[in-house]
Amino acid sequence: MTNSPPAFAWEEWYATVGGRSIQIKEVTDLLNEIYNHQYSRFDGEVSHARRPFSSPAEAAHHLKEKALEFGADIVGICEIEPSDVYRGRTVTEKFAIAVGQRMRWREFQVVPSREAAIECLRVYFTLGETVIQLASHIRSIGYACKVEHPIGDSDLLHIPIGLKAGFGELGRHGSIIHPTLGPLFRMGSVITSIELEVDAPVDAGIARFCDSCRACRKYCPPQATPDDRSPEAGKDHLGYDRYVVDTGRCFPYFAKYSYCSICLPVCVYNHKEWARDFDGAQTKAFPTVIMLSPPPPTDVLEGTPCHTYPRIRR
Ligand code: SF4
Ligand code: SF4
Repeated sequence: MTNSPPAFAWEEWYATVGGRSIQIKEVTDLLNEIYNHQYSRFDGEVSHARRPFSSPAEAAHHLKEKALEFGADIVGICEIEPSDVYRGRTVTEKFAIAVGQRMRWREFQVVPSREAAIECLRVYFTLGETVIQLASHIRSIGYACKVEHPIGDSDLLHIPIGLKAGFGELGRHGSIIHPTLGPLFRMGSVITSIELEVDAPVDAGIARFCDSCRACRKYCPPQATPDDRSPEAGKDHLGYDRYVVDTGRCFPYFAKYSYCSICLPVCVYNHKEWARDFDGAQTKAFPTVIMLSPPPPTDVLEGTPCHTYPRIRR
């Protein structure tokens, strides 16, 4: 797994900025719900009565229907490759069933904000319920599987899995842009070795559009989103040089100012169309962006066994 990065270790990253400083009661409550009431439901008994499938296509269709029934907004399937697995972690399952849930545009009318932070955690929680229910269903029909929770400390890198599963293209801001949902969604997955038909990556010209659009670059207060693609960072799933976000600049801002999230709602891609009347809420076409003074860049120490990123322009 030489291509795999070490796992992203949230606590080590928080330690670099003096610990968790975002104090929002609803966020804390949701984090506690996830850690105390979801993690314990990741495992379960596999039924001895196995439901047969006539083909990988039938199995994929059934599991996608179930994922949607359990609350997914988008679902796709891909084969897991060694480069999708964090270094030091072991994944023996063959396929990932990636699920995504959209976040409500109306909660991102001001960023950073308390409302946006709560919305991120709300979707981590509801998406957690979706992957737990999907995993429970798979076990109930006689197949083993594992939950890869959206909030982190998973064995898989969600972004390459989502790209291969057909969720969209990699944007300049480092998040996946779905052709209709835009970037305002979160992902998790369930992994299994049931033979499944896989989806194809999306090639809708989104990544190329990023080359002429710089909205997320302009509105990133610590200038963590890149000016240019980084040939040394490897190719994305369409063969383009990747854009790489400077996490040493992003994370201190993210950790200090309500998980920031500015780059998602300022992204020009499509989400405002579907989100405008989401649940009937009146929304603006562009968020109010609060550009606060960025803290100094910080990075995990050299040799720390967790995910590090290139330092851009520094
Ligand atoms: S989350 Fe904020 S700081 Fe990080 S890349 Fe996006 S806009 Fe920049
Ligand atoms: S704001 Fe523009 S450049 Fe940034 S990810 Fe969205 S489309 Fe790409």
